[in-house]
Amino acid sequence: MSIYADDVVSFTSVLKIAYNFLTGREYLKRKKVRERKNLISVALGFPDLVFAADSIPVLPIRMESFKVNKTLLALNSATSVLGWDLTSKLLDIARRFDVLKIVDHILEDVISSTNRKYNEMYDLAEENDVPPDLCFGIKALYGMHISKGKDIDANLNFAVRCSEWNKFSESLKTIVPNQVWIDLPPKDIANNKKSLEIMVDNIKNAITEIENITGNVVTDNSLKKQFRIGNQVKRFYKAILYEISASNFYPCNPATFAEILALLTITFQDYNSNAQRYLENMSQLVKEMRERIRTGIGMDVSDMPRILLTPIYGGWEPYIHEIIYELGGRVLYADWDILGFLEEIPVSNNSNPIEDYARFLLGASRKGIGCDNENLTKSYFKAAKKMNIDGFIFNQVFGCHSLSNIYSTLQERIRNELDIPAIVINFKKIGEDVEQIRTQLSSFMEMFK
Ligand code: SF4
Repeated sequence: MSIYADDVVSFTSVLKIAYNFLTGREYLKRKKVRERKNLISVALGFPDLVFAADSIPVLPIRMESFKVNKTLLALNSATSVLGWDLTSKLLDIARRFDVLKIVDHILEDVISSTNRKYNEMYDLAEENDVPPDLCFGIKALYGMHISKGKDIDANLNFAVRCSEWNKFSESLKTIVPNQVWIDLPPKDIANNKKSLEIMVDNIKNAITEIENITGNVVTDNSLKKQFRIGNQVKRFYKAILYEISASNFYPCNPATFAEILALLTITFQDYNSNAQRYLENMSQLVKEMRERIRTGIGMDVSDMPRILLTPIYGGWEPYIHEIIYELGGRVLYADWDILGFLEEIPVSNNSNPIEDYARFLLGASRKGIGCDNENLTKSYFKAAKKMNIDGFIFNQVFGCHSLSNIYSTLQERIRNELDIPAIVINFKKIGEDVEQIRTQLSSFMEMFK
């Protein structure tokens, strides 16, 4: 039986988010061909401008065809007739008579097909001779664009201060000619007012380019509408990170909980290409989690140390949360909050949405995506304190010269100043060196005994 088995089957919202992620290909085809929408590729947490231009943001891995568990696939027809709640109840009943154990494996299948696809994208990039020492995240993104770039109308890019990332973005031009860039103001501008002015100009230029590509006008109202949706999504996301994850009773086992956080880390990048639907799923997810805790469905986790594993957005070894669970701990993923993407963007009748978006981007760049080691260190310390975690795992990604070089020093500082165990794990590709990682984690978890 899968370690995720019992937990997820009656967790409708998780199934919905997983279903929308894995079946993106059909959804996106329909949007592009029938509704003539523009598909704009995005990465990290930047879908807002695309939605505001009545277009579709997409993390291009979702244009791939995934191997989808038959039960999850059948859900689509069942839910349109019965609704998700009833379908979920039926699934729960089906699980009890499921001699083939098909239902039990729904989440495991989601995880394995996602991981397999990420590795496939990485391999595709390598086959196409990208420089061998790039990090997993960049190679996977290359692969996604090599594979599906011809169906993408434009790429929206934020010039973060990782030189490898910027080189990658630059070279995407050969695959997706329409490149929209939003540059960050130079680092040495200490004057906040000047930085804001530059950021506002950069956003305005990007909006003009998006309008030219899509033929749609971005208005203050369309921006505000999107920010309102985004703010609610962020509130639900934070409720999961700070309310549910701090609970001594989880709505599912900690491996499933970590898997849900991983699914959110991936899907938050493009909101599964439908902001309103994503918001509804997030709202339902929080509701279901609270309800399960209230009615005692889930697991007592009071004696399991809470371990923050970060950063994972550029690729990580997902088996870690299974291993940690087996060793008696619980893993949390909170990249988007650490990096400032869960900050809300103020919206009011008189607000200036472009200026507010500029402040949001500047804030995120100061917290971490600007690849400023000092600020990133501050963000990690802040997260550790705010989440009251018991241990830290740093994910040192092979090929990353921008962030990963601070982890050894950071590990020492966390141990000395916060007095909690910290460890650095090396990552190159999913599934590689799992046994070595297991050995490392076993000694790490001994520190909590
Ligand atoms: S900062 Fe590191 S992990 Fe992130 S994109 Fe750059 S090289 Fe990759």
